[in-house]
Amino acid sequence: MDQIHERLTEIVGAAYVSDAAEEKFIYSRDQGVQEPHAPDYVVLPGSAEEVSAVVGLANREKIPVVPMGGGLVLSGLTIPQKGGIVLDMKRMNRIIEVNEKSHYAVVEAGTSQGMLDAYLKKHHSALKHSLPDAPPVATIAGNIAIHGSGHLSQSEGGFHSEMVTGLEVVLPTGELVRLGSCSTVPGWFSRAPLPDLVGLFLGWNGTTGVITKVGIKLYPRPPYHDVLVFMTEDIDAAPDILCRIINTGMAEDINYALAPKPDYLNGFQMTVINITAHSEEELGMKKKIIRESLRHYFETKEAGFMPVPPNLKANFLEVPQKALSKFADVRKGGGFEYVGAIMPLEKIPQACRAGMEITGRIGITYSLGARIIGRGHSAMFFFAYPFNRADASEVGKVARALEETNETALKLGGIPWKTEISGQQLILRQMDPQTRELMEKIRGVLDPNRIMNPGNWEVA
Ligand SMILES: Cc1cc2nc3c(=O)[nH]c(=O)nc-3n(C[C@H](O)[C@H](O)[C@H](O)COP(=O)(O)OP(=O)(O)OC[C@H]3O[C@@H](n4cnc5c(N)ncnc54)[C@H](O)[C@@H]3O)c2cc1C
Repeated sequence: MDQIHERLTEIVGAAYVSDAAEEKFIYSRDQGVQEPHAPDYVVLPGSAEEVSAVVGLANREKIPVVPMGGGLVLSGLTIPQKGGIVLDMKRMNRIIEVNEKSHYAVVEAGTSQGMLDAYLKKHHSALKHSLPDAPPVATIAGNIAIHGSGHLSQSEGGFHSEMVTGLEVVLPTGELVRLGSCSTVPGWFSRAPLPDLVGLFLGWNGTTGVITKVGIKLYPRPPYHDVLVFMTEDIDAAPDILCRIINTGMAEDINYALAPKPDYLNGFQMTVINITAHSEEELGMKKKIIRESLRHYFETKEAGFMPVPPNLKANFLEVPQKALSKFADVRKGGGFEYVGAIMPLEKIPQACRAGMEITGRIGITYSLGARIIGRGHSAMFFFAYPFNRADASEVGKVARALEETNETALKLGGIPWKTEISGQQLILRQMDPQTRELMEKIRGVLDPNRIMNPGNWEVA
């Protein structure tokens, strides 16, 4: 192993490779309930060529490699199950190109959501990208590698993985490849019309290669922004209410939520509708159309719009929503898990009831809700469970709730998203056997020595 350390030092420099106990401790765990496993080395590459040399070495020596961005996935997907190298990509954070005309940015894989957002605000203020509500240190590559979603997912085309215009990837055998238009011509503007190889690296949790560059779509940043908040007590009305808002085509982001705290909101569901516009008139018109779409509910007094005081409004207008990060630590002690199940909208009432039943029976707190993806093509339904990591009994309860929630989400006809290894196994068991076999064949071809993020998407 000393020779491996020496070789890694030659590739990235002594300052960027470590096998120190404290470093291994930090990289052995995340904020969730998954068991820690220490890596043998933590490596911070500075270029695609260095990634290629590290992965090439790992492949020859059959050493596991776990790519890591912000390490904020929560479900243990960057915990090195079999030791080996954690490849922390955060040094590779250059913003390489912003194409204002063709609306895309090309960034190195370690570029964080916050960095790209700040860069665009400063240098290309008419444009923005879709931000998840994750803390801003989450990376663009880590987010698309798990099919993340964010504040433009409803209005601008769905999951962030659908906003990818091209990738540069180091394959598990060390070769550097480019996918999308950038493979053939200079621009990173499109995946079509070529055979779509980008999908081989999206949703695979870093098991098929290391993404080193991402082309990501940019969208207009209208200067006017407002929010409407619609409240109801009737869980069964949620799909209809959400569809009415979606069908107006006037909302940028639509989020639905319910939680037992604060007390005055207990028993209510809140639909938060963010609207952007190029003028006061457009903003007013959009709000009017959305209000009209829900006339039936407020005329029958079944539901209504909540007046939003200015201090609360400021919170609702934040992108990303800091409220979620605050809720994540509501139990103190830094533990947070959520099952995000990708499911059809009509399942939302059942998912709410299931989440309340599971948490009530197990005795933990929760926040439940959904972000609309695409024009209602699906929802990311979150069952969010904060906990205190210093309280072993609470950790055990949340682990049980997660397991039950994954099973319930599948039974309801949803699919757990970015799920931990046990959840991946549940999905694989339910998957069509031919599809499972195809996944396995692809892994075999790309990663003959099975070095990439072992344990994830393993067909037993
Ligand atoms: C409070 C809170 C709110 C959140 N809200 C959202 C939200 O609104 N939307 C959302 O999508 N997510 C959300 N998340 C979940 C998660 O934090 C994000 O999806 C985040 O973007 C993941 O990025 P990361 O850089 O932290 O990825 P990591 O955790 O580092 O990695 C995620 C996965 O991608 C792989 N990976 C990372 N980098 C690479 C690479 N370069 N090449 C190949 N594979 C790679 C890893 O091996 C791992 O399997 C939230 C999390 C928290 C704590």
